[in-house]
Amino acid sequence: MSMENKCVDMTHYNDYDKLKELMSKSGYKFDFERIDKAYNFALNAHKDQRRVSGLPYILHPTSVACILVGLGMDTDSIIAALLHDVVEDTEYTLEDVTKLFGADIALLIDGLTKLSKIKYSNREEQQAENLRKMLIAMSNDIRVIIIKLADRLHNMRTIECMQEQKRRDKALENMEVYAPIAHRLGITAVKEEMEDLSLRYLDPVGYAEIEEELNNTAHDREEFIASLKEEILERSKDTVPNMSIKGRVKSIHSIYRKTFMKGKTMDEIYDIFAVRVIVDSVIDCYNVLGIIHDIYKPIPNRFKDYISTPKPNMYQSLHTTVINHRGIPFEVQIRTWDMHHTAEYGIAAHWKYKAGVGGKNGDSLDEHLSWVRKMLDIQKEAVDATDIVSTIKTDLNPNEVFVFTPKGDVINLPAGSTVIDLAYTIHSAVGNSMIGAKVDRRIVPIDYQLKTGEIVEILTQKDAQGPKRDWLKIVKTSEARSKIRSWFKKERREENITEGQAEFERELRKYGINIPEDELEEFLSKVNLKIQVNNLQDFYAAIGYGGIHLWKIMPRIRELYQKMYGKQAAEAVPVKPVEQNVRKKVGSGVIVEGMDDVLIKFSRCCNPVPGDEIIGFITRGYGVSIHKCGCTNVPEDISKAEEPKRWVNAHWQQSVKEVFQTSLEIIGMDRTGFLADVSNQLSALHIMIRSLNCRELPDGMAIINVTIDVVDTGHLKSIIARLSGISGITSISRK
Ligand code: MN
Repeated sequence: MSMENKCVDMTHYNDYDKLKELMSKSGYKFDFERIDKAYNFALNAHKDQRRVSGLPYILHPTSVACILVGLGMDTDSIIAALLHDVVEDTEYTLEDVTKLFGADIALLIDGLTKLSKIKYSNREEQQAENLRKMLIAMSNDIRVIIIKLADRLHNMRTIECMQEQKRRDKALENMEVYAPIAHRLGITAVKEEMEDLSLRYLDPVGYAEIEEELNNTAHDREEFIASLKEEILERSKDTVPNMSIKGRVKSIHSIYRKTFMKGKTMDEIYDIFAVRVIVDSVIDCYNVLGIIHDIYKPIPNRFKDYISTPKPNMYQSLHTTVINHRGIPFEVQIRTWDMHHTAEYGIAAHWKYKAGVGGKNGDSLDEHLSWVRKMLDIQKEAVDATDIVSTIKTDLNPNEVFVFTPKGDVINLPAGSTVIDLAYTIHSAVGNSMIGAKVDRRIVPIDYQLKTGEIVEILTQKDAQGPKRDWLKIVKTSEARSKIRSWFKKERREENITEGQAEFERELRKYGINIPEDELEEFLSKVNLKIQVNNLQDFYAAIGYGGIHLWKIMPRIRELYQKMYGKQAAEAVPVKPVEQNVRKKVGSGVIVEGMDDVLIKFSRCCNPVPGDEIIGFITRGYGVSIHKCGCTNVPEDISKAEEPKRWVNAHWQQSVKEVFQTSLEIIGMDRTGFLADVSNQLSALHIMIRSLNCRELPDGMAIINVTIDVVDTGHLKSIIARLSGISGITSISRK
């Protein structure tokens, strides 16, 4: 964790003297007399109470006050922090507080007390209600939420003594609600510490791994940053008068997000190390940028100008990622002091400016408040409380979406995730058998991007054909991508085994070799294969993918066969290729480049028809199989395919007069006569129907799969156009 961002560490500032010291050192004006009075009142009110840890209760409000001083908050906030648990946890009432400290303070305390009071049985509902209360409190006085954040933060720092379940609940709520609010209000210091502390309880192992890695590299990193500092200072000393350079390390939570959630290794994260340059003016920022880009090589597309276009939470800085002379990439953040205060303290920085320290960002409070007001407006229109939770969550954390399963489970995905990502998040079996999805009860395309609050149902089918290769381009999460890849690898293995076995058996027949099946494995173990195979399946797969060449091992097999079985292997007799499953088409209408009179089969996975762009694959002994370009079984990049030479160019002969089979998937409302309308329309067009089936989908929809004869793509298009006219149809796609 970046020390710079860490809020005041309570192990050093754990009593009232330390609070006073902090206030004096802060450079801001405080009303010490009123603060004294508040402290003494709270000390007395809590005198018999202890924290779960056994320590005196007063340490908690005092610590919260310390955090607020660190954020630059004012006297009223400090007083409210000291008194924040008095009304809720002691015999004193709000009237007592009003009498002693005035209506303003009482209002803050009331806001804070209300925030923590009501408990609901259902977690979503509870969160919704908490958020609503927070928003109302914020719109009355935004300091309430800043004090609340400090309260949560201190509780999180001292949560060690709580029960495991309670720690996890609190940690989760921080991640889902409080850290995003801190982020939205721009209070980075609180956000980052809160996320790191919460992560420690949510995934202790992951947290420890990253922490250890950071500790192991701490020394190198310090040296690295020191050398960068020196270089940058040396080069800019004449141009930029006042400059502060600090090295910083990404927070553990943000490294975690990138490593565990985006599947990167720590080496692949460019901005684990960052250098932060703080200067006096905006001109200096751009000057420094020029100098940095001159010393180091910038990585393309990594420059971001948040000065001209601030983030929604008012954050401003220039960001760039560069590579030093040793090839180590690092991020540089360049900003002015004003921007720095806003970046660290966000909306809390407002009180500093009010107190006459710092610059001109007077509008920032209004802008932050306008967000709160917008949320409240949405809340007024919202029909039920959970609506507002989803709205707020989207707005708070644009990098994530939260969707619901039909059972009401919440699933959290990176923004831009599709229904496929969701399917694979649930289970790889769900993804592999997925045939479609419904969002809020309506069928959506497979590349549909999810939005927070949507209810998503994944439609699966037992005998689904598995993922399509296109999905790799559609999915957002690395989890889904790797699961799809592994499916293909495994599927290819099965193909390889089938092919390998057929080839091997053909070869054995050719030489008249007959080894009993149950002795085959042992027999092969005696053949020196030069490649690790654990069983017969491995052996066939290896033949299938070309790891074992039969022509190389056959002589040894023949020799061994003779030795073990005492039989002479026959000299090779020509064996005709097996022609099962081949839709033989003499004059199939396809020309394969460089091959005459070749056996053509049309692959079943994509059923190409004239007009489609096609490509051929030279199979082992089965002729050339023709696929549609873009079919899932055609590699995206042929040159990187396992056997690139087997892929050959193919195209249609002119004036093909044959018919081709193709399959359509038609989805529509499941009304009486739906299927009849489809088949009537097809027969009216004189289309030969090869197969037709209809299946009910949940929620009143139905899906029809039909295989028909068509002449070419133009013909197919006109058929689809006619079918689209049938009432209730929502989609027609080619399978
Ligand atoms: Mn508290």
